Formats: sequence, structure tokens, C-alpha cells
Amino acid sequence: MLEKTEERLDSEAVIEEFESLTKDAGKVQKEILKRILQENGEIEYLLKFGLDGKTDPASFKARVPIVTHEDLEPYIRRIADGEKSSILSAKPISTISLSSGTTQGKPKYVPFNDALIDSTMQIYKTSFAFRNREYPIIGNGKALQFIYGSKQFKTNGGLTAGTATTNVYRNTEFKRTMHAMQTPCSSPDEVIFGNNFQESLYCHLLCGLIFSDEIQVVSSTFAHSIVHAFRTFETIWPQLVTDIRDGVLSSRISSLNIRSAMEKVLVGPNPKLGDTIHRKCLGLSNWYGLIPEIFPNVKYVYGIMTGSMEGYVGKLRHYAGGELALVSGDYGSSEGWIGVNVNPRLSPEMATFAVLPNIGYFEFVEMGLPEEAAVVAAAAQPVGLTEVEVGKEYEIIVTTFAGLYRYRLGDIVKVKGFHNSTPELQFICRSNLVLNINLDKTTEKDLQLAVNTSANLLAGEKLELVDFTSFADRSTDPGNYVIFWETTANNNNNNDEIMQECCNCLDRSFVDAGYVSSRRVNSIGKLELKILKRGTFNKIMDYYVGLGSAVSQFKTPRFIGINNHKVLNILSTNVVNTYSSTAFD
Ligand code: AMP
Repeated sequence: MLEKTEERLDSEAVIEEFESLTKDAGKVQKEILKRILQENGEIEYLLKFGLDGKTDPASFKARVPIVTHEDLEPYIRRIADGEKSSILSAKPISTISLSSGTTQGKPKYVPFNDALIDSTMQIYKTSFAFRNREYPIIGNGKALQFIYGSKQFKTNGGLTAGTATTNVYRNTEFKRTMHAMQTPCSSPDEVIFGNNFQESLYCHLLCGLIFSDEIQVVSSTFAHSIVHAFRTFETIWPQLVTDIRDGVLSSRISSLNIRSAMEKVLVGPNPKLGDTIHRKCLGLSNWYGLIPEIFPNVKYVYGIMTGSMEGYVGKLRHYAGGELALVSGDYGSSEGWIGVNVNPRLSPEMATFAVLPNIGYFEFVEMGLPEEAAVVAAAAQPVGLTEVEVGKEYEIIVTTFAGLYRYRLGDIVKVKGFHNSTPELQFICRSNLVLNINLDKTTEKDLQLAVNTSANLLAGEKLELVDFTSFADRSTDPGNYVIFWETTANNNNNNDEIMQECCNCLDRSFVDAGYVSSRRVNSIGKLELKILKRGTFNKIMDYYVGLGSAVSQFKTPRFIGINNHKVLNILSTNVVNTYSSTAFD
């Protein structure tokens, strides 16, 4: 095996490569499309469209249709069922990824092959190189990574299926890259891939504490996992301290695999470290600055903090204290990666993603009026990567090395600028997620903004919003928005006055013109704010994890569809109070 020092990533070389790739992104895109089509020209799916060996963008766009996941599902299903012929890609699809399903209600099957591992490593290395310029890792550190493998299973055809992040964490390249980035995970594999999420989380925290002086990065894929981890820490830290003092793993960890792996980390009693952590925990005020206090050498907190993760940034800031940087993670999906955060000093709210022009072929459909969105794929002419315009919003269409051709990813982005000739995108929202009753089209972003404004009122009462979701209730006439909140309020507390205020504020804070005008004439009814029992969103996460989704990819769904009976049932059975808006009375 190579010495760690020899493995170290040459950040400047990585940045140089990125600069050269993005100088003429248009040319790189053409070459990538050519390579994808040359490699896959003979596959069943593409043969249907009579490309006749043509690999140029014009022929590709003229002959191959824009599709959704639904259109490709029968093909993916056949691959999962074990058909050997090259259906979607010439390279064999060895694995099926399960997209988290939290955004769209049910997990989707997506083809996965080695090309996705390569692009994942390229993204990791590129964004690390830019981060490392600003916040260098010193020597060989460790990362407290709240990452979790999900269960893998075999499809009918014997292919392994699991979430994309699990496929990545299991790949040897992942470990090698983490070492090269001087921040391997502080937990053993048995913890990452444990069967029980609570046990894995406990041990991640314990390993982090044991190596607290070596931890230089605290991270996860999505910010939710970091916030969830430290909220848990707030309640279980005395047990963790006991384990460290005594050098004995708590009996709450039942997995023998994890227990034997942890024996190598928890090597004997360490009362000194236990006492230090104990003192530090008691010294914190409401856990403000917890991360730098416990991990004195941490350089930054890293994870996706944009899109549906924005709601957790406030709490992360609290844990990070005033000084420690929050660096928003990159932009990708189970289908493939899109862009890298090359401006790590930007606050999470301003984060953008520079598209890597060699990891796929990208097209962009300009978003017009909301009504157009539904027919957009059929009507509008998408533009290429370098033809997008600053200030405009687009839906992304991807063509990948893993069998997706002109595939609607379902995300809306805004072009904020360019890095050389590749665009820097801001994530706006999922295109299919809107609250809609009458003339209104409230997007995930609109909802987040309204919730932010209203949740600010909680601060005066020393309360916090833990998580939220929404539902368009059309069972009554007129229909109305229902917003579900879990807060830090004790279930028995009487917070009627403030909650009523929050409810009215929410109702007033939706900016969509259709919503406001419909509310004025009562063609949309009074908004309802439903307060949930503590722990309700953990139950929702457990439910999705039970479906095969990974905690690492979990995103609280911000809208619950009428057919999502299970989640609606969890919500409705956990409501402790309902407030009805008087904002438009
Ligand atoms: P998954 O279903 O787990 O593959 O999730 C992929 C989706 O997560 C993307 O299509 C986006 O909607 C969302 N996502 C991924 N990265 C980001 C990011 N950096 N900012 C906002 N949303 C993201």
C-alpha cells in the first residue's frame, strides 16, 4: 500500500484541470456527447431513433426525444429483471441505484455503472481542491462523517440495488479519495454500513469524540444528517462520556459486527478525555458553538445546505458558533452529478455550482410562465451548457454515460454567472413540487421562504422549528394549505398566542400572486398550521428508510401528495394543535 503522504491530492493540479476543462466548455460538451453516442450507438434504446452513427448535438436533439423517468422505467425494469442485451448502455449496468424517493414519494430505479463512480470522485476532488485553498487541512486529519449505507438487495435479475451513496461508500475508490483528501472517516465501515441507524449514529458520535483532536471536517451528504446527529448528541452525550471514561461500549449497541469493530477504536478507559468532554458540554450555552468546542481543530462543516436543506442552516450555524465556516456541498443526483461548489467562501444561501462539462451532456429548458412548465419539454427548444443566460431559470436535461439520454432531472436552477465558460447554477427547486389549490403555484422555494419568515417569530419565545412539510387539502371547498410544524416546544406547553401569530404570518408570507388573490376572495380557504409531537419527523424518516431509502440521502418531503397515505397518516396521528389563519379576515 502507498504511504498516506504519497496518496495526497495535488489540489493545484486538480484546479488546473478544472480551469482547463471549463475554458472551452462548449467544445468539451460536444466531445462528451460524441463519446457517449459512439460508445452507445448500438444499444437498443438509441437504435430506435435512427441516429445512423451521427454524434453531433443537432442530430441528437432532432432525433432523440426528451424523456422523464416514467418513459425509461420499462427499460430500467428489464435491466433489473436480468435481460443481458445492451438496452440502455453498452457498458454493463452492474448495479441499480434507488433514488431517495423522498422528493417524489416513491423510490425510483436508476442505472448505475463505473462511470458514475469516476464522476463522483472527480466532483469530490474538485470541490475539495477549492475548499482546501481556503480552509487547508493540516497533516493527516479525520472527518466526522455522518454517512450511512442503506440495505442492499438483489433485483429479480440478480443485480445489486441500493442507494447511490451506498454504492459510492462501498467502492474502494471512495476510501482512497478520502485518504488523499487527508480526511478519512473517523468511523469504521461496520458503523457506516450498520443495519440499525440509531446504533450507527451513536458510534459515529463516539468515534468523533474519541478522535476529537484529529477531526478537521464535520460532514454529511445532506445537512439534515448533521443537524439530526447533534440534536441527538444533546440528549445522549452523558452516555457517550461514560463509554469513553470506562472504555466500554454501551450495551445499547447490539450489533456484534459494530461491537467488535468499535473495540479497536475504544481501546481502554480514558477518564481524561471523558472529563474534558463532560466539562465542555456543561460549559456550552444552549449548545451554541458545540462543534468547534468539542472538535478544536475543525476547519469547516460540509454538506449540501441548499434546496430543501436550507431549513437546517440556522441550526447548523448555531452549532458552528460565530466563526466556523459552513461550506455547502456539491450538486448531484442518483442519475448523475451536475456541478461543484468552487466558491466555498460563499454563505450556504448564496452557494452556486459550476457545471463540470465532462461528466455528461447538459441541456437547459428555459422556464417561462408556470403553466408552460407542464408542456415545456414538448414545446421549448433547450439550449446548450454555454448558451444559458445569467438571471434566467431553467429545467435541467441530462445525458449520461450510465444510460440516460435527454432525461428530465426534474430540478429548476438559476444561472448566477459563469466560471470561465461553464455556468454557475443556483438550485431553485424541484419542478414537480408545487402546492396548488386554485390559481396558485407555490414552489418549494416559496414555501421555504414563507416558513423562514414565520419561524423567525419563534425565536422570541426561545423556540425553534425542527422540521416542516405541507399538504394541499382539497377535501373541503374551498381547499386550503396545511402546514405541519414540529418545533422544540414541549408538547404540553401552551404556546397558542405565538403559534396563531405564526399561522397568520405564514398565510401572509406566500408571495405567489395566485395565492394572494385567491385568499382575498376566499377561493383558497384559511391556511392551517398543525403542530406535531416531538419526534414526528424522525418517524417519517424511519418510514422512508424502511422503504430502502438511505439516511444519507434523506430529504424531508416538503409537500405530501394525497396518495401518500402512510406519511399523511403519521402526520395526522401526531398533531397536537391546529391553528387556522385569520390573516385575511
Ligand atoms: P436523490 O433522489 O437522492 O438522488 O436526490 C437528488 C436530488 O436532490 C436532486 O435532483 C436535487 O433535487 C436534490 N439535490 C442534490 N444536490 C443538491 C444541492 N446541492 N442543492 C439542492 N438540492 C440538491
